[in-house]
Amino acid sequence: MTEVLVVVDHVDGAIRKPTFELIALAKRLGSPSAVFFGGADASAAAAEKLKAFGADKIYVVDDAEIKGYLVAPKAEALQQLVEKTSPAAVLLVSGYEGKEVAGRLAIKTGSGLITDAVDVEDGGVTTQSVFAGNYTVKAKVTKGTPIITVKPNSATPEETAGAGEVEQFAATVSDAAKKAQIVAAQPRQATGRPELTEAAIVVSGGRGTGGDFAPIEGLADALGAAVGASRAAVDSGWMPHSFQVGQTGKTVSPQLYVANGISGAIQHRAGMQTSKTIVAVNKDEEAPIFELVDFGVVGDLHAVLPAATEEINQR
Ligand code: FAD
Repeated sequence: MTEVLVVVDHVDGAIRKPTFELIALAKRLGSPSAVFFGGADASAAAAEKLKAFGADKIYVVDDAEIKGYLVAPKAEALQQLVEKTSPAAVLLVSGYEGKEVAGRLAIKTGSGLITDAVDVEDGGVTTQSVFAGNYTVKAKVTKGTPIITVKPNSATPEETAGAGEVEQFAATVSDAAKKAQIVAAQPRQATGRPELTEAAIVVSGGRGTGGDFAPIEGLADALGAAVGASRAAVDSGWMPHSFQVGQTGKTVSPQLYVANGISGAIQHRAGMQTSKTIVAVNKDEEAPIFELVDFGVVGDLHAVLPAATEEINQR
C-alpha cells in the first residue's frame, strides 16, 4: 500500500495528540508512515506510541544537523523523504510550524498545498476551512504530492497498532537551509491545562470579565479545558498574548468553545467559529456572539459561571 507521511509534532519526544489524529486520517489514504525528527533518546519511546496508534513505519530523522534551526532544514529533509517514498500525501499539523514547513515543502516538490483541512476522505478530497473559517470548501490537490495541514481536533485518534517498523533516515541538510538559527528558546509556561490549540474544550473570557478570570479558570478546570481570551482582555493586560483567540491570535477548533463576556467581533470569530459546539454567556441579549452559538445564556458571567462550575464539580 502507498505510504502516507505524517510529520510528528512533539516536544522532546512527548507526542502531541494531533499527530495521532493525523495517523487516523492517513489510514484513509494509504499506509501511515510517521516522520520523527529527533535523536535516539527521544525516538525509542515515541516509536512505541506511534506504533500503538497505527504507524506502519517510523522514519527517524536524527536531528543533530537540524535541531537549533528554524523550519528550512525540516522541509529539506522531508523533500528527500518524499523523493525516496513517493507518498500518497504528506500530512502535518496546522500550526505555525506545520504550515510553514508545508509551504516550503510544496514549493520544493512542485506540489499542491491544502492548509487548515478539517477532514480528509478516501482519494484525497479534503474539507478545508477558508477565509478565517467563514467558508468550508471541498478541495483536492491536482499537482505533485498532496501536502495537507490538518487542524487539531479534526479526527479521533485510533489506538489500533500498526507494524511500527523503525527506519533511520539520514537527511542531507545544505548550508542554504541553515540560515536562521535559534539562539534561545523559552518553553511555554506550564499551566497544568491542555494546550490551547489542541484542547477538546476551551473556556474563554473577554472584556466582560472586568479582568477577573477566576470564574473562567474555575469552569475551565472543572471541564479539563484550556483557557482562552479575547484581544480586549489581552490588550488590557489581563492575560498573556499566547492566550488570545482570533485573527491575530490562535485558531482553535475544539469540541466545545465557551465564550464568556465576549461580544463576538469578526476578528474573534475568525479564531473559533469552526468549533463543534459553541456556548456563550453574555449579559447583552443583542450581543453578536449569540448569532453563532448552539447554546446561549443571557446573564452575568460572575453569577452564571460559578453556579455552572459548582454543578459540574458535584457530578
Ligand atoms: P467587547 O467587544 O467590549 O465585548 C465585551 C462583551 O462582554 C459585551 O458583549 C458585553 O455585553 C459583555 N459583558 C460585559 N460584562 C459582562 C458580564 N458581567 N457578564 C457577561 N457578559 C458581559 N479580537 C480578538 O478577540 N481576537 C483577535 O485576534 C483580534 N484581532 C484583531 C485584529 C484586528 C486587525 C482588529 C482591528 C481587531 C482585532 N480584534 C481581535 C479585536 C476585536 O475587533 C474586538 O475589539 C474584540 O474581540 C472585543 O473583545 P471582547 O469581545 O472581549 O470585548
